[in-house]
Amino acid sequence: MEWETVIGLEIHTQLATKSKIFSGASTTYGAEPNTQACAVDLGLPGVLPVLNAEVVRMAAMFGLATHSTVAPRSVFARKNYFYPDLPKGYQISQFELPIVHHGYLDIELEDGRSKRIGITRAHLEEDAGKSLHEAYLGKTGIDLNRAGTPLLEIVSEPDIRSAREAVAYMKKIHSLVRYLGISDGNMQEGSFRCDANVSVRPKGQQAFGTRTEIKNINSFRFVEQAINYEVERQILLLEGGGTVVQETRLFDPDKHETRSMRSKEEANDYRYFPDPDLLPVEVDEAFLASIRDSLPELSDARKTRLVSDYGLSEYDAGILTASRELADYFESAVNAAAGAGKLTANWVIGELSAALRRDDREIKDSPVDAAALGSLLLRIEDGTISGKLAKQVFEAMWKGEGSADEIIEQQGLKQISDASAITGIIREVLGKNPAQVEQYRAGQVKLIAFFVGQVMKATQGKANPQQVNELLRKLLDS
Ligand code: ADP
Ligand code: MG
Repeated sequence: MEWETVIGLEIHTQLATKSKIFSGASTTYGAEPNTQACAVDLGLPGVLPVLNAEVVRMAAMFGLATHSTVAPRSVFARKNYFYPDLPKGYQISQFELPIVHHGYLDIELEDGRSKRIGITRAHLEEDAGKSLHEAYLGKTGIDLNRAGTPLLEIVSEPDIRSAREAVAYMKKIHSLVRYLGISDGNMQEGSFRCDANVSVRPKGQQAFGTRTEIKNINSFRFVEQAINYEVERQILLLEGGGTVVQETRLFDPDKHETRSMRSKEEANDYRYFPDPDLLPVEVDEAFLASIRDSLPELSDARKTRLVSDYGLSEYDAGILTASRELADYFESAVNAAAGAGKLTANWVIGELSAALRRDDREIKDSPVDAAALGSLLLRIEDGTISGKLAKQVFEAMWKGEGSADEIIEQQGLKQISDASAITGIIREVLGKNPAQVEQYRAGQVKLIAFFVGQVMKATQGKANPQQVNELLRKLLDS
């Protein structure tokens, strides 16, 4: 039997505000435990939450960027459950009336087609604290620094049909929140994580199968592994005559498998009700208009522009606009390189990205900044150095040995474009290889490559290759 996979993702993205969603405490990551939790975050008696206006602005930006409805009126609700890292005994979230709903995002598939994924809703909520199990010998510590950190939970329609599509969707959301500047998207620090809902059904069947939910996955690779494992598990179960139970599961990245955490019967009844301490959030047209005006250029529009402004291929433009940082880098570099679009794209996607990967660095920490790369590319463009030697210069720049011009000067890499100098070297090469000259003249014209190689060797790669070719043919054919 052929099976079809059905996936819906719930992505939690931490909003990049300075202070928390309902208090003035700082959201800076990595502070000493419990130094950034105030009375409101601790849920002490008598305190009142006050909504941080910035989170409303950020959620509205996300809503507009995903063609969603930004609700004129949304309501905070209490989600009640007991857990040691939740001092109030409830989490403030949004339930029946979320701030954002009914939108979509287009993702690119591997075959180049694009696919539309529906966004059911995106709602604001506060994060809980963190339980620390390792450091306390049989006891558990609670760090409430994260309690009250603002989250936007983005819920997709069950429109995703494979682990690869899920990764593409998650990457696109990740890129979007960073383009918008509403989240740093830092996955190691937990600022961007997802729950994957997975089911399978016989191909052609309308009704969805029973789903399981894999909680708290914090890397693109793990999302793919977890979903693939879960799909395989469900299919084996069904083909063996069993049934899938609706439950919450955890992914174990060491064993590459998912494990049951709790079943639907054990699920909490959250007893949601509107939080009486918070007013409904009202958003008017003027507010939305001002946000619409301030939206930055987003990846799809930027991709189209890079194709038309710099003559790039759709493919290259897609890679360069996958993150705002990379696109910014490319555009600064291409400006510094007098608009040499294709050359700059090749270098940013090729040499630069490879060097970043090799040294495990982010583009913002690149030892060669965009202006520096641009000035190197200018020297290829104006014929000072060959593309091949430019790679050597780039490596030296990467190690901090100076600017492109300084290194070219120091290492004596200037291309030889002086026709009489090159002719002299060619005569020497021909003089040393009379047999090959004879063969060439007898019709073995492929030997031209041999002569070019010899001349390049004699000049340590500094001769202008095009000129070498032309002059060689002239001398050999004369
Ligand atoms: P809950 O309120 O229990 O979290 P929702 O109906 O809001 O459930 O759905 C949560 C997520 O699960 C959504 O992303 C949705 O697209 C997805 N989902 C719902 N049904 C299925 C299914 N049968 N298979 C896969 N994903 C599903
Ligand atoms: Mg859920």
